[in-house]
Amino acid sequence: MSAFDSFPLGQPAFVTSVLDRAAHLRRDDEKLFALEQKPSSRAYVVYRDSLLVKREGDKVRALLSIDEAVKCGANPGTVFLGLRDGAAVFGMGMPQTAAEKLIGRDDYSVAELRGMAMQGAIPPDELSAIAMAKSMVGWHQRHGYCANCGTRSAMKEGGWKRDCPSCKAEHFPRTDPVVIMLVAAGEKCLLGRQKQFPPGMYSCLAGFVEAAETIEDAVRREILEESGIRCTDVQYYMTQPWPYPSSLMIGCSARALNEDIIVDRSELEDARWFTRDEAALMLARTHPDGLAGPHPFAIAHHLLGRWVRDKSGA
Ligand SMILES: [Zn+2]
Repeated sequence: MSAFDSFPLGQPAFVTSVLDRAAHLRRDDEKLFALEQKPSSRAYVVYRDSLLVKREGDKVRALLSIDEAVKCGANPGTVFLGLRDGAAVFGMGMPQTAAEKLIGRDDYSVAELRGMAMQGAIPPDELSAIAMAKSMVGWHQRHGYCANCGTRSAMKEGGWKRDCPSCKAEHFPRTDPVVIMLVAAGEKCLLGRQKQFPPGMYSCLAGFVEAAETIEDAVRREILEESGIRCTDVQYYMTQPWPYPSSLMIGCSARALNEDIIVDRSELEDARWFTRDEAALMLARTHPDGLAGPHPFAIAHHLLGRWVRDKSGA
C-alpha cells in the first residue's frame, strides 16, 4: 500500500479513530482495574517517538496483549484509551533500559512511529489511538510533579488527570493549538522550507496559536512574520492531531494581499510562490527539479492537495 493509498485526500494520519473513548469508565477505578486484567485487553506501548511492535512475518503488530507488553518491560502505569470492539485498550510507556534490551531481537522491536506510519506498516485506522497513547504517556512522564507546589502528583481517572495530594490542585493533559495554512494569490500558493526539511521539500507555513489569540489572527500573524505577506479571508478546513508531543494542527486557507516575500531566516530557509501546476508535480513527487511537497501523512499535503484539485479553493 502506498502512502497515497494510506492517506487519501482529506485523511492525513491520526484523524481516523476506531476507538470509543468511553470516558464514563475513567472514574471507575475498580472497573478499569478489572478491564486491565482481562485477557481481551490490549495496549499500545510507546517509547519517546517510537512504538513497540511485534514482528509477524513481514508485518508488524502494534496492538499487544497486556501480557506481551509487560513481558517486554512496559511500565505498569497505564492510560485508559477506550474500547475497541468492546475490549479495553490502554497506553503504556517503557523505560530506556527495557527498550535497549529489545535491540537485536527478531520477535519485538522498538521502531520510530512516523517512519512506520509513512511506509504504511501501521494500519491508518490505528494511528489515532497510538497518537493518544503517545501524547498521554509523554504528558505523564513530563508532568510528574505539581506545577503549583512541586509535590509529586498522582495519576487519576484512568490517566486523564493528575491530582496533587498536597495543595489539591488538579492537572489535566494539554493540547497545544497550531495553525497551518495554505496561502494563495490567484494561481500561485506560498510555501516555505525549514532547514531540517529533506532537500527540495516545501510545505505550508505553520505556527503556535498564542495566548488570547483567535485562529484567524494567528494565521495572519504567522504568515506576516515568516514571509512578509499580509493575508485575509482565513477559512477553516480541517484539523489533525499531531502527537509531537501534543499539538492540534488547525488547517486553514487564506488569500494573500501582497506578493513581495520577505523571508524570516530565523524560522525559514526559504519561502516562495509556486504555481498550481508546479504544486501538483511536487505532491506527485514528479517535479523536474526534484522539488517535493509534504508527505500525505501530514495535513499540509491535504491543504495543498485540495487547493491543487479545487481551482476555486483559497
Ligand atoms: Zn500541589
